[in-house]
Amino acid sequence: MHYHPKYDLLKNRLILVTGAGDGIGREAALTYARFGAQVILLGRTESKLLAVQQQIAQAGLKAAQVVTFDLLTATPEDCRAVADTLAQQLPRLDGVLHNAGLLGDIVPMAQQDITQWHQVMQVNVNATFMLTQALLPLLLKSSGGSLVFTTSSVGREGRAGWGAYSVSKFATEGMMQVLAEEYKHSTLRVNCINPGGTRTAMRASAFPQEDANKLKTPADIMPLYLYLMGDDSRRKTGISFDAQPGRKPGPAE
Ligand code: NDP
Repeated sequence: MHYHPKYDLLKNRLILVTGAGDGIGREAALTYARFGAQVILLGRTESKLLAVQQQIAQAGLKAAQVVTFDLLTATPEDCRAVADTLAQQLPRLDGVLHNAGLLGDIVPMAQQDITQWHQVMQVNVNATFMLTQALLPLLLKSSGGSLVFTTSSVGREGRAGWGAYSVSKFATEGMMQVLAEEYKHSTLRVNCINPGGTRTAMRASAFPQEDANKLKTPADIMPLYLYLMGDDSRRKTGISFDAQPGRKPGPAE
């Protein structure tokens, strides 16, 4: 995407990023902070989140907040507790990027381990839904809230072997569409991003044979992540965007 945001696109914005300690989420959090946002870093590994928080502080950007939270074990009460704590500290949320995700095993459906299935659904769908539900009141306090989910090409067209992950991303697309419809007369917009093959740990475990140097880096795909959090996307809702339009799904060639 060719997008040249203003340097202060996200000034005074309060944006929560899940899975902010690594990969695309880490880069998104750093990028949002560089464009003026105050970011809330949510993830399961505290040391990684603290490192991102420190990097933001060292760059002299708006101080970031850390929320250590494991989506795998999260209950509705846990999600509400996170939202309640945030509501005591923040007047609103202007953006939520649901980025955290679990790949699970790349195996045919017939061999799909049931525990893994539940884990992938819990992280990618159930906890993402419960956290969204809990955070909606804070998002609706914004004059232009942006709720962004993370999908995948296998969430639009099934592919052999991608089992629970693929199904969870179809559910993510559905969740986005339902919410976008429900809030179409409000100030809240709801969209999906498909990052496309990107150089991260998750990608390396999905395609161990691939030459990672042929892949875009998380930094390369940030224009769309910025676009969807800033005012330029205000009227866009219910859309599943590609961060790398035209890229063919599958291993890098
Ligand atoms: P990574 O595995 O590099 O990062 C995933 C992040 O999610 C990590 O910070 C991880 O935490 C966090 N996370 C995982 N499980 C939990 C949990 N139970 N609770 C809280 N946080 C958790 O993945 P990517 O950056 O590659 O992926 C980001 C998103 O993009 C995912 O939704 C993925 O499905 C999607 N995507 C990625 C593509 C790619 O090519 N990279 C392509 C298409 C979609 P921790 O660091 O502690 O492990």
